[in-house]
Amino acid sequence: MTYLENKEPPKREDRLKTCITYGGTICGLSKKSKSCCINDSERGFSQGSICLLLPALGMINSLPDNVVLLHGAIGCGGCSHSQNANARSGGNLRWGKVKDALWLSTALNEADVISGGEIKLEKAIIEADRNYRPATITVVAACVPGIIGDDVDGVIERIQPQVSARIIPVHCEGFKTKIWATAYDAVYHGIGRSLLEKPENNKNLNISEFEKLEEKYKLSRTVNLLNVSSMGRVDEVELSRLLGALGLETNIFPVFSKPEEMYKVTHAALSISTCPTHDDYLVKFLEEKFQIPYILRHMPIGIENTNKWIRDIAAFFGLEQQAEKLIKEETRELEAALSEFKAFFKGKRVFVSAGEFRALATAYLLAELGFEIVGVRSFHHDEFAETEYEKLEKAVKNDFTINIANVQPFEEVNLLKKLKPDVFLGHWNGNGTASKLGIATHVIYNTGLSYIGYKGVYELARRLYRQLKNPLFNKKLSKNARLPYTEQWYKSEPFKYIKNQGGEADE
Ligand code: SF4
Repeated sequence: MTYLENKEPPKREDRLKTCITYGGTICGLSKKSKSCCINDSERGFSQGSICLLLPALGMINSLPDNVVLLHGAIGCGGCSHSQNANARSGGNLRWGKVKDALWLSTALNEADVISGGEIKLEKAIIEADRNYRPATITVVAACVPGIIGDDVDGVIERIQPQVSARIIPVHCEGFKTKIWATAYDAVYHGIGRSLLEKPENNKNLNISEFEKLEEKYKLSRTVNLLNVSSMGRVDEVELSRLLGALGLETNIFPVFSKPEEMYKVTHAALSISTCPTHDDYLVKFLEEKFQIPYILRHMPIGIENTNKWIRDIAAFFGLEQQAEKLIKEETRELEAALSEFKAFFKGKRVFVSAGEFRALATAYLLAELGFEIVGVRSFHHDEFAETEYEKLEKAVKNDFTINIANVQPFEEVNLLKKLKPDVFLGHWNGNGTASKLGIATHVIYNTGLSYIGYKGVYELARRLYRQLKNPLFNKKLSKNARLPYTEQWYKSEPFKYIKNQGGEADE
C-alpha cells in the first residue's frame, strides 16, 4: 500500500530512520558500516534552525497559477518573501513572464488557538478563490492547526464544491519532525493525491491513429527529470542538453509545473532523480501506481558522478554506445578547460556543508579538481547516501571530518577553527560563520548559477578560482565582526554534546 492513501505522509524519522547526529571521521564512519547515527539520538545542547516549511514553500511558491495559503500563526511562512525572487526569475526564464508568487496567511492568533481556526480557513479559501481565480490553492498546514487539532482535510473536503480552484492540502507542521527533507514528501504527497489526473479538456479524444503512435513513441523516450528546487533553470537546461544528445525528451517536475500539465509525470518511460534524498517518495509511488521504473542514485555533480548518471539512464534505454561517445567528447573538452585551474587548486583545503547528497557529491567534485577535503557537514543521514560515502572514501586519500547536523553552527565554528580550510562551501544562509572567521566562502547552491553536469564543473571551478585569487573580503570582515562563542568552547571537543557517541550530554 502506498503512503499516499493516507491523509498525511509519515515523518522521515519513522519512514527511513533518518538521523541528525554524528561527529567523527570518514574512516570511523566506514568502520560503523555507515550506520553512523542512532535514530532519535539527540544533542545535550542544540541550536535552533529552519523547519520543513522552508523547503516545502520553495517548491510550492514556484507553481504557476497557484495561491499558497498558509494556515498557521502570524509570521509563519514569512520566508516566502525571500523566495519570491526565485519565483519571478524562474517564471521569466521558462516562459518570459515575470510573476510574483502569491501567498496568503490565515495569521492565527491567541483567540484562534482557543476557538479553532477552521472557520478562518474556510473564509480564506473562498477569498483566495474569488480574488485570484487560481487553478490551484495549496493549503499549507503549519504548527498551530496541528497543535489545536484543526481538521484541515475536512475543511477542504467541505469547501471544495464552493470554489473553482483545486484545493491541495500540504501538511507541514514544523514540530512533527526535525528532518526538513520530510518537506519533499509532504509536497509530493499533496500533488500525488490531488493533481495527477489528466484534465478532461486535455484528453485528446479526436486525435488520429498516426498522432497516437507518434505520441506513444515520444512518451517511450520521455524521462521525468525530478527537481524539487535543488536546480535552477541553467542546470535543468544542462541536463536536458545531455539527455537530448541521447535522443531523450525531458519532463521536468514538479517545480514550475503547470497544474494542468502535471499528469504528464504519470506517462513517462522512466523517472530520474537528480538527488536521491529528495525523490524516493514520489518515484516509488509512480512505480507502484503507474508502473514507471526509476533510477535513484548518483547526483550529476562532478565529472565521475555525471558520467555514472548518464550511463545508468543510457543502460535503461539501450543507448550505451551513444552514452560512451557523449561522455568521451564532453570530458575531453572539460578536462582541457580545467587544466588552468587544477594546479592552483592543488592542496587547497575545503569544507563542504549542505543536504547530504549535495554535500557528498560536491566534495567528490572538489576532490576531482585537486582540493583537499578536510570536512563535510550533512544536514541529515539516511540509507540513500551510503554508497556516496563509499565513493568519497575511495576518491579521497586522506581521512577527514564528517559532521551530521541540522546545521548547529557551534559545532561548525569549533571545527572550522581547528581544520582551518581555505574555502567553505555552504548554503547562502549558512556561510556567515565561516565568513566571520575570515575563510573564503562560496554558495553551494543558487538558482541563478550553474552546478550540475559538465557545465557545472567548469562554472564552479571558474568561480572558485576567481574567489580564491582574492579572498580579502572575508579576511577584512573577520577583523570587524565577532562570533558569540568563548575561547573555552574553541578548545573543547566539537562533538561533546552529541549523546550516545562518546560525547557528554551535560557539562
Ligand atoms: S511551521 Fe511551526 S516551526 Fe515552522 S515556521 Fe511555522 S510555526 Fe515555526
